[in-house]
Amino acid sequence: MADARAQLAAAVKLLGYDRGTYELLAVPRREVTVSIPLRRDDGTVEVLTGHRVQHNYSRGPGKGGVRFSPSVDLDEVRALAMWMTWKCALLDVPYGGAKGGVRIDPRRYSAAELERVTRRFTSEISPLIGPAQDIPAPDVGTDEQTMAWMMDTYSVGAGHTVLGVVTGKPISLGGSLGRASATSRGVVHVALAALRHLGLDPARSTAAVQGFGKVGRGTARFLAEAGVAVRAVSDQYGAVEALGGSGLDVVALEAHVDATGSVTGFPGGVPLDGPELLTADVDLLVPAAVEGVLHEGNAGEVRARLVVEGANGPTTAAADALLAQRGVLVVPDILANAGGVIVSYFEWVQANQAYWWSEDEVEARLADRMTSAWQQVLAQSQRHGVDLRAAATSLAVQRVAQAHTQRGLYP
Ligand code: NAD
Repeated sequence: MADARAQLAAAVKLLGYDRGTYELLAVPRREVTVSIPLRRDDGTVEVLTGHRVQHNYSRGPGKGGVRFSPSVDLDEVRALAMWMTWKCALLDVPYGGAKGGVRIDPRRYSAAELERVTRRFTSEISPLIGPAQDIPAPDVGTDEQTMAWMMDTYSVGAGHTVLGVVTGKPISLGGSLGRASATSRGVVHVALAALRHLGLDPARSTAAVQGFGKVGRGTARFLAEAGVAVRAVSDQYGAVEALGGSGLDVVALEAHVDATGSVTGFPGGVPLDGPELLTADVDLLVPAAVEGVLHEGNAGEVRARLVVEGANGPTTAAADALLAQRGVLVVPDILANAGGVIVSYFEWVQANQAYWWSEDEVEARLADRMTSAWQQVLAQSQRHGVDLRAAATSLAVQRVAQAHTQRGLYP
């Protein structure tokens, strides 16, 4: 939360706002901590802890994921909720920011136990959530099945099916076409725009992608489809680099990952040390795995001219400063990985209207919103002479503060 507050303080200073505005935005509007008694499959009872934090709802209902992870704590959930407020405002979707989590290691529980945890958590937070109040989505450790259980539990309480209460649902239950690939597509829209901004032709550019999960895999595929040579990719088990001067055959690599569960051992490339991927000699680096991977110890060796943050928080504040000194352009997470929240918004719109769009419609509207946000952030950065992260945060803070001012303070 300290990092999130420091970013807010910098934005408030840049915009010339008063202390009261900072204080209004530095604390969540509403938060709840709940106990979740769970009957385990062996008949014993365990009590878990869950949170839902609504950081801000001046621009619309809260929006943000539900995380199932052993590291969940209230402070982390508060910070994540604040970043969701900025992400939604930056992409101009009519939401505030929220986040939720249960402190649990989902790998240690059966599907039946996870269903019971999800249903009890949903029931405990149900007075706070709803299509007009706060709309959860999947995050680390949760998926479309979790969202189906949440939707069902909420609907049982309401007495009728409420598709708009969560997003990231299965397609057969009111999910949106294009949702699964939305974050990766968004990363690539922004990456291509940023390469062109640097005077680099994507078809002659090279890239390295860290992480080959929901975000990294699609990013590698869509970059390759746009003509970028994807020189190296990694996952938690290791990394692989292309032979010769061309890019990896990403389609063949995906087939290898489907068959073996990892990028390692891919016959179309040579092994590379995972950490070396971050300092590979490429134009574009996309960290799309976990937080804090670019730090004081390695940021000075990054050779890419452009870093596009597919993951949340992959660059520490110290690394940010080092990269800026060396002229590396960093596109921040709240812009680069916002494709998922945009298509979540589309899913909610479709569910509330009970009218579903084609995949082409979803993708065209996603592309419009991502490129328009990129242009707005770039303009803000040039206007104030600040990096893209400060530009993105300040633009978002400006929109939320404006909503506060226009609504006025009650009473
Ligand atoms: P995921 O679990 O599907 O994939 C994570 C990938 O990273 C896996 O391939 C894993 O092997 C790899 N990995 C883990 N540790 C690594 C390491 N030390 N080095 C290299 N690779 C490593 O997760 P995801 O949904 O793709 O999320 C990745 C990041 O993107 C997270 O920071 C997440 O918060 C963020 N994000 C995801 C979405 C989304 O729509 N899925 C949206 C916004 C942001």
